[in-house]
Amino acid sequence: MNTTVYGKDLQAWQAEYPLMAPLLRLEPVSWFNPAIAPLAQALGDIVLSATDVQQASQRLQRFAPFLAQAFPEVAATGGIIESELVEVPAFARVLSERYGVHQPFRLMLKKDSHLPISGSVKARGGIYEVLFHAEQLAIDAGLLSVEDDYRKLAEPALQALFARHKIAVGSTGNLGMSIGIASARLGFETTVHMSADARQWKKDKLRAHGVKVIEYAGDYGQAVEQGRKEAEADPACHFIDDENSTTLFLGYSVAGERLKAQFEAQGIRVDAEHPLFVYLPCGVGGGPGGIAFGLKLAFGDHVHCIFAEPTESPCMLMGVYTGLHEQLAVQDFGISNKTVADGLAVGRPSGFVGRSMQRMLDGYYTVADDELMRLLALLHRSEGIALEPSALAGAPGVHHVLHERQGYQQRLGFSQEILANATHLIWATGGGMVPEQEMRSYLSKGAALL
Ligand SMILES: *Cc1c(COP(=O)(O)O)cnc(C)c1O
Repeated sequence: MNTTVYGKDLQAWQAEYPLMAPLLRLEPVSWFNPAIAPLAQALGDIVLSATDVQQASQRLQRFAPFLAQAFPEVAATGGIIESELVEVPAFARVLSERYGVHQPFRLMLKKDSHLPISGSVKARGGIYEVLFHAEQLAIDAGLLSVEDDYRKLAEPALQALFARHKIAVGSTGNLGMSIGIASARLGFETTVHMSADARQWKKDKLRAHGVKVIEYAGDYGQAVEQGRKEAEADPACHFIDDENSTTLFLGYSVAGERLKAQFEAQGIRVDAEHPLFVYLPCGVGGGPGGIAFGLKLAFGDHVHCIFAEPTESPCMLMGVYTGLHEQLAVQDFGISNKTVADGLAVGRPSGFVGRSMQRMLDGYYTVADDELMRLLALLHRSEGIALEPSALAGAPGVHHVLHERQGYQQRLGFSQEILANATHLIWATGGGMVPEQEMRSYLSKGAALL
């Protein structure tokens, strides 16, 4: 092949970057970050701080009474949108057998798949950005102050204000669901620009909530571009930018302190002798990036975050590995960006996340679609938990860490004893709202591959 990509032919890319060859062959790979640095240094790469995360957390507290009233599904938690942390020992045994992991390990599942309101990790960042925007509008209009009881947002004066404003977003599905449902409930006129790969049931659900859904023949990148253009032409419209939004990122980051409290409540230690490995499915990067940032602030150097992507959409890995970041689209290298993993079908990574987190993340790996489907069936069989395919991307992580041959364990000073005390956590990012029939089809496809 003599195609030139960014001034180099594919052979030159492969010679300079050895991991490119298996990536282009769509083989599952792992890459442990040689630039990993202690948190105090790594924080120098990011413009955000612990104070920003704290303010996001306080903002969510201010909104809690309103959310409890507007969304019956969070009434029981006083308007706090949070998911369960559960241990999955039977799935740990399944993974041990599947990947030949001989040492025992503790395996946890963070069920963002079952977050209230939108059934995916996007209920963190997406809803937060809608709330942030609503608060700004209300304060600027002189109709709200941060000391107020936010249940006031449901009153006619504020509803009339929101009705004069619009929110738009480009999405492969789940972000549209979170932003669409939340912003329609607040009273905004809402448009979701959906890529061709988005599931029909997600479009139907949004329309049932009064959201305008515009469908595109192209992928996520094109849906975003078109949405952005339309929104720019309308001053009353706020476009939510998944690739570069620090607001979205901060909404996700609040997960760090929440998870820390859950670990404390369950009496699970995280310290130098008891490291925590967290495996996060990555699309454009804002979700896993924001969560990883929050985790690093909460647990310091004792948490180790690793991103997981489909073999057909390894945009963040390739962007960070080559240093091309958002200049790169996997399609330019002949990789399809077609995957069963909704939410991960992203060809161009967020440069903001790739650069901001470049010394904070321990590594990246890829996983094939068929393996996601098998893992989906295996998790259901062993634990009775049903997730959407993307949410299984974290499952092979423990095998990559324990079997790595890149000097990573040594570099971080992990002895066998320390590794035996480690906790591994799979961040389950979606699945709670998948219709029953769709889920049955996922399960039978997965089982057929076993
Ligand atoms: C969006 C999404 C992700 C990844 O989030 P990004 O911000 O795109 O990296 C992971 N899993 C699911 C189910 C998602 O919807």
